[in-house]
Amino acid sequence: MSKHPELDSLRAVGFDMAQLTSGDLLSYSPINGAVLGRVATTSAAHYERAVAATAGAFLQWKAVPAPRRGELVRQFGALVRTHKPALAHLIVLEVGKIPSEAAGEVQEVIDICDFAVGLSRQLHGLTIASERVRHHMLERWHPLGPVAIITAFNFPMAVWSWNAALALICGNPVIWKPSEKTPLTALALAAILESVVRDFSDAPTGLSTLLIGERSVGEWLSRDPRIALVSATGSTRMGRDVAAHVATRFGRTLLELGGNNAMIVAPSAREDLAVRAITFAAAGTAGQRCTTLRRLYVHESRYSVLLERLRAAFASLPVGNPLEKDVLIGPLIDQGAYDAMQSALASARKAGGVVHGGERVNVPGNESGFYVRPALVELQAAIAVSQAETFAPILYVFSYRTIEDAIAANNAVTQGLSSSLMTQDLSEAELFLSAEGSDCGIANINIGPSGAEIGGAFGGEKETGGGRESGSDAWKAYMRRQTQTVNYSAVLPLAQGVKFDVG
Ligand code: NAD
Repeated sequence: MSKHPELDSLRAVGFDMAQLTSGDLLSYSPINGAVLGRVATTSAAHYERAVAATAGAFLQWKAVPAPRRGELVRQFGALVRTHKPALAHLIVLEVGKIPSEAAGEVQEVIDICDFAVGLSRQLHGLTIASERVRHHMLERWHPLGPVAIITAFNFPMAVWSWNAALALICGNPVIWKPSEKTPLTALALAAILESVVRDFSDAPTGLSTLLIGERSVGEWLSRDPRIALVSATGSTRMGRDVAAHVATRFGRTLLELGGNNAMIVAPSAREDLAVRAITFAAAGTAGQRCTTLRRLYVHESRYSVLLERLRAAFASLPVGNPLEKDVLIGPLIDQGAYDAMQSALASARKAGGVVHGGERVNVPGNESGFYVRPALVELQAAIAVSQAETFAPILYVFSYRTIEDAIAANNAVTQGLSSSLMTQDLSEAELFLSAEGSDCGIANINIGPSGAEIGGAFGGEKETGGGRESGSDAWKAYMRRQTQTVNYSAVLPLAQGVKFDVG
């Protein structure tokens, strides 16, 4: 009998957790610390073979018409739909998300596949007016080359899919280095893609590769000149390393790094909306989203009432085993995350902050899991820990007097991912969205900073890395641009009127 019957459907694509008993990398469930599986990691020899196959696959795949490449992604998305409940269950087990958030993550995979299928007929270039008689100029987009995708633990499926679906329709093979904390979700999703690739007549061997391992595998990919683009999602520390290695060889990076996202609650904000938006954005996913709300600026006229409501909301949040009904806050990923949270709270207390919540929660039967009550920390002014990203549910709360001050505080961190303003005042909203407003990649009005849709380009500025993934024209990162000039005359006029008559 399988220990996790919810995952049985995945056997059809070759994923069976019960058989993962002998690898060197252990996958733990944050729910109770249980070992879910043992997975073999990538050796240097296997790495060499895999990247060589990927380079070969590129030569074939780039010649396949883009809409046909889209058909492969369509078939993959259809299979993900079929296996959505099993995939979501695996995310719950391996990351500790609550089921609706886990299902939402799988839905993102499906959504980006749909988006990519449409896009596979819309990789549009430009026609450009030429100054020369009987010449025309074009800008065309061509496949780039093998794309390495390094992912973080907290979105173990969605982030890979944002990259992979676009990279594939753009004509590139993909190599995935998932977080060492989430090898099973990666194995399951990769198995689905591999099953489609196997039966797809135009798909070469090596089109999709999974390399399980620690950060060293990510470092190999960063240094490897055969990899045209390294798309890396994770901490700013990781992005700094990857950026330096890839730059040395003039490769391309797409970086999606840490955030330190803020919300401003203005005098005219709708209070109920604000309380819901703040609570979901700060405490949802146990504070482990790159877009999690970490700093809150409340207008001084609303501060005390809003703070009381937030304290009550945070204190009543159901924390527990995400497999149990009505739980909204699951566990932190591991002890390291718990220790980082407690250390940040201790620093805040030492700096005069007033801390509400933040303590460990005992969940009977799951004593090895790291469950916490989301914390609110009242601060008079910014301190070192409020300027850093601690990947846990801590919300630093400040009061402000003018919208200009609040916007300046929003921008006064090294990260630049997401931001939001709760207001009914049109002038304030427009200011926040203007060039003088938020300096982040994402700016929202009357919603929190988290929970983006796939249709927009996703990413952030400054130490968040500057990358854009997912919707809009993010596909251009996975292609190379070529400017073409065609002369259909019988003469050879030179640009800018240059004369160079020979013969
Ligand atoms: P992490 O940086 O510890 O690891 C992320 C990935 O990078 C893992 O696969 C890891 O093995 C690999 N890695 C680590 N060091 C590396 C190196 N020197 N070279 C190459 N690869 C290396 O991050 P994490 O703890 O898994 O995830 C949390 C972090 O990710 C947070 O900072 C969060 O904000 C960020 N994140 C950002 C986004 C975004 O879109 N901006 C999305 C999700 C998570």
